[in-house]
Amino acid sequence: MRRLQMMTEEEVKYLVIHCSATRCDRDYTEEMLLRDHLARHFRGIGYHFYIRKDGKKTQHRMLLEVGAHCVPYNRCSIGICYEGGLDEHGKPANTLTKEQEERIADLLINLHQLFPKAKIVGHRDLPGATPKECPCLDTHAVFGWIEEL
Ligand SMILES: [Zn+2]
Repeated sequence: MRRLQMMTEEEVKYLVIHCSATRCDRDYTEEMLLRDHLARHFRGIGYHFYIRKDGKKTQHRMLLEVGAHCVPYNRCSIGICYEGGLDEHGKPANTLTKEQEERIADLLINLHQLFPKAKIVGHRDLPGATPKECPCLDTHAVFGWIEEL
């Protein structure tokens, strides 16, 4: 069995926002996410937090547990994924619901207090990370204000 890999508080440099890259008019449940991540041989869901369209938040990793969401930044980041990111036509778009935006903001405010030096970034903002679009929104414009608190 693989040992659980942990970060120290000082090692957490980024709070990384992701989207599930699923259509905003379809449901992508925690169970579907788990199924897909197990198929990729992750240890359960790779994100620390998942936020459904209705604002429901679930936690899938311990805060300092190394996640599986953002190669090569997994050992220095906490991953937060929101359900959606594609419009009704399957095109990348900011599909955040009001409930999701509020829930993520609350979560980031708490994480910012715990990790004041960690930057709030989108997956695509990290150099060397693969996806071009994720999280399909301007993370700094939407959540950057929290870093100033
Ligand atoms: Zn991502």
